[in-house]
Amino acid sequence: MSGMGSPVHLREPLPEPVPAEGCDVCGALAEQRARAHAAGDWSKVTDCNVELRRHPHP
Ligand SMILES: [Zn+2]
Repeated sequence: MSGMGSPVHLREPLPEPVPAEGCDVCGALAEQRARAHAAGDWSKVTDCNVELRRHPHP
C-alpha cells in the first residue's frame, strides 16, 4: 500500500464554542484563545475550547 505514515496534525474537529455573554471566565478564555490563534498555538486553542465547553452556566 502507499506510505501514509506522515504525522497528521490533529485539529479541533468540532466548531469552536462561543463564550457565554456576560461571563468573565468565558470572556477571558476567548481572549486567551484569540491570542493562541494569533500565535499559531493550536494546543492552547484546543485547551481554551475545552474549558469554554465545560464552563457551567445556570
Ligand atoms: Zn462561562
